[in-house]
Amino acid sequence: MPQAVIVGSGMGGLTAALLLQKHGWQVQVLERHYRPGGFLHRFFRQGIGYDTGFHYVGSAGPDQLFGRAMKHLGVYDRLRFSELDPEGFDWLWFPDRQFRVPAGFERWKAALTAAFPDESQGIANFAEELRRASRAYGWFHLDLSTPPESVLPWEECSLQQVVERHLKHPQLRAIVCGQTAPLYGIVPAEAPFGLHAVVTDHFQQGAYSVDGGGDRLARELVRELRAGGGKLHLRTPATAIDVREGVAQGVWSGERYFPADLVVTDIHPSLVLDLLPAQAVRPAYRDRVRNSRVGAAHIGVYFRVEGDLSVLKRRNLYRFRSWDVEEMALPASPEAPPSFYFLAAPGAREQGRAGTEQVLVAILTAEHKIFEQLNGESGETRSEAYRAAKAGIEGQFRAVLAEDFPQWKVLAMESSTPLSTQHYTGAPGGAIYGHYHSVAQMGRYRYSSRIKVRGVLQVGHAIGFPGICGAMMSAYVGCAEILGGETLVAELKAA
Ligand SMILES: Cc1cc2nc3c(=O)[nH]c(=O)nc-3n(C[C@H](O)[C@H](O)[C@H](O)COP(=O)(O)OP(=O)(O)OC[C@H]3O[C@@H](n4cnc5c(N)ncnc54)[C@H](O)[C@@H]3O)c2cc1C
Repeated sequence: MPQAVIVGSGMGGLTAALLLQKHGWQVQVLERHYRPGGFLHRFFRQGIGYDTGFHYVGSAGPDQLFGRAMKHLGVYDRLRFSELDPEGFDWLWFPDRQFRVPAGFERWKAALTAAFPDESQGIANFAEELRRASRAYGWFHLDLSTPPESVLPWEECSLQQVVERHLKHPQLRAIVCGQTAPLYGIVPAEAPFGLHAVVTDHFQQGAYSVDGGGDRLARELVRELRAGGGKLHLRTPATAIDVREGVAQGVWSGERYFPADLVVTDIHPSLVLDLLPAQAVRPAYRDRVRNSRVGAAHIGVYFRVEGDLSVLKRRNLYRFRSWDVEEMALPASPEAPPSFYFLAAPGAREQGRAGTEQVLVAILTAEHKIFEQLNGESGETRSEAYRAAKAGIEGQFRAVLAEDFPQWKVLAMESSTPLSTQHYTGAPGGAIYGHYHSVAQMGRYRYSSRIKVRGVLQVGHAIGFPGICGAMMSAYVGCAEILGGETLVAELKAA
């Protein structure tokens, strides 16, 4: 039986593990953390769960991409998905206008046209471009007859360029670009139009939460792995990949050795470099990875409130303080109100533990280097300056929240910074989505699953697209190198 070692138990790693296992591989997953799941984590305070990197996922209906994959991986029937409001699953709240993003392409076009009737032709043209761009990604439509290079033109132009070609009204432009921050963390001027098309397309098929959040999803994937004979080793960081004559032979975790015919990494390519012998890859590749920009970072604010949360039961809030959506990229500061925040109430949507239904999770933009500088040499104990900045940002957030939702009483609040994210997941720069998937770093410059070392495959959101579905699909695309793309697509279609 061929043996595979997977480094990292995030959505990408667990998907790859199950795909290989289904095809006769003996699989071992190494995870540095004491819980599996990576960004799927839900942490607990007094028995109440707080989600970190899972609030909703698209296309989870039984005949849609994510739903089919969950069936294919063997966990669909054990998960309870709930669809968010198809009339408006994302609520964009600008200073003097609000827009609810509906599910369904036609419904979305109709809602935009109703709000901006003078622009009906531009909206139709923009929507048509979205549809064409999304179709270029064959894997996302289970159609591999589309050549992989057909995505290039869509990754070489930005969302802003296409918006400016078709839409005139500044408010319409802002609404169309409004979801970019939390969905993939890139400003419209730098976001590849193809990326935007694929990510929004999967949510337009329907946006879903899952009972128990990402934690439940990770647990079910792990249960399936174990049921098939696979092993998960927690608190087991990979420390080196054993490479001989250009071929991977196994993985070291300190003194422990895990032999492997195939090593699959679910970590950022720069962390893969750290595991490889210095000469294993070309200097040009090494420089490119070391100099690449990592994805956006965030402040996570986790809190409970007393009060009615029904307004967020079936939708997420994107709150903008101005019509300039580029301002959402401004890092939150202790001195001023945040220019943007995302808010979700994942627990309110599920039949969970008592207390969880009052939980709210907010995301604010942040810069890793600001916190790194503030923390100085203080390490895990954190400096006074770091703590003060964090408390200041929490205070600013509390103030805008009190303005926006005066009916809520905040009961308990804590927050994380990019340093916390890096500490718990290893993500360089505390990046939410691994890579900065910008026009400059995608298209012909995007990372590939394969590297020069034979027997190593890279998966995860840095290799594929941002998000749970993007990380999952990166594993399908990567494992297709071994298992065959047509085989996997046929299995997905039959699932
Ligand atoms: C605040 C936030 C909100 C988000 N909200 C959503 C959302 O609502 N919907 C959505 O679709 N996406 C969301 N995302 C993004 C999504 O969570 C990620 O894109 C996705 O989960 C990434 O999966 P992954 O497998 O690529 O990597 P990860 O989840 O990062 O997994 C990598 C794993 O590798 C482990 N690891 C690292 N180094 C080693 C080593 N040396 N040895 C062993 N293990 C190692 C890490 O501990 C981790 O468990 C959000 C992210 C964040 C941070």
